[in-house]
Amino acid sequence: MSGAVLVTGGAGYIGSHACKALKAAGYLPVTCDDLSTGWADAVKFGPLEEGALEDRAWLDAVFDRWRPVAVMHFAALSDVGQSVREPGLYWRRNIAGAVNLLEAMVRAGCRHLVFSSTCAVYGEQDGVLLDENAPRRPINAYGASKAAIEDMIGHFAATHGLEAVTFRYFNVAGADPEAEIGEFHRPETHLVPLVLDAISGRRETLTIFGTDYDTPDGTCIRDYVHVVDLIEAHLAGLGWLRAGRGGAVFNLGSGRGYSVREVIEAAEKVTGEKVPVIEGDRRPGDCTRLVSGSRRAARELDWRPRRSLEDMIADAWRWHQRGDYRR
Ligand code: UDP
Repeated sequence: MSGAVLVTGGAGYIGSHACKALKAAGYLPVTCDDLSTGWADAVKFGPLEEGALEDRAWLDAVFDRWRPVAVMHFAALSDVGQSVREPGLYWRRNIAGAVNLLEAMVRAGCRHLVFSSTCAVYGEQDGVLLDENAPRRPINAYGASKAAIEDMIGHFAATHGLEAVTFRYFNVAGADPEAEIGEFHRPETHLVPLVLDAISGRRETLTIFGTDYDTPDGTCIRDYVHVVDLIEAHLAGLGWLRAGRGGAVFNLGSGRGYSVREVIEAAEKVTGEKVPVIEGDRRPGDCTRLVSGSRRAARELDWRPRRSLEDMIADAWRWHQRGDYRR
């Protein structure tokens, strides 16, 4: 056993996949989750400590109980549209949770953090592949709250010697190929599960948010990465920290963008079913195009996404068809 790793948000979509991979790598994943958006039955690979990061006394007790060698911090509100409607919620919850977590790490002498950031820190840029040096100009409170946490980490690194690998994710999709865990949000706002809901009849239609963007087919372009590929990078990031290589920031994406219409076409191809589509208005807070340059992760972490958009949809579809995960 290589030690305990605290996984905040381990009951959520990406965090639960991290727990599975950590366990397979010989760590004990200890999930810290208040179950506000996560699910207790997604915690299958280690213990659940139920509580909110805002509760500092609880957090300190968790650190004392498990003495983790590192933390993976996934817990956050992450719905772009909601962050536009309720910015205060994002600043309060995402930031307060992170402050407490970093302070608790310092108190416990736990120096290694893998932090889940987002391409939303970049905001609108001009049609380029975004590398890690692109300026951060978030256009929604979700991206802004993650950018603020990145800055917070910088101050804790300078003062307290905290070392963090920060990953800026592009669009994460897919599911565990064994369909033990997968993506389930309530309400669901993400494109791939919504497309599958429309195919399976759980939802009548899929609304395309905006067809007048300045892109070849008028719909937004995103860079999709399979959750299993993404988590492989997290394990590499943990290894990087434990090897004493210090703090770093990496984009995680494929370098290839797909429009909303292309995602729909891929889902039709994989499932053999038609997606009933409505063309709707733009969704406030959406950027036109977010595509990653992930050369740094390839070079430094030897990480490359190996799974295609079709793989993501096929794995998500297998999970989707299980059905019993709908709590
Ligand atoms: N999208 C859409 N219809 C939906 C949900 C999403 O057209 O019902 C679009 C959305 O505008 C964006 C892309 O799909 O361009 C990916 O959105 P998602 O919410 O999955 O991820 P985000 O990019 O916001 O993190």
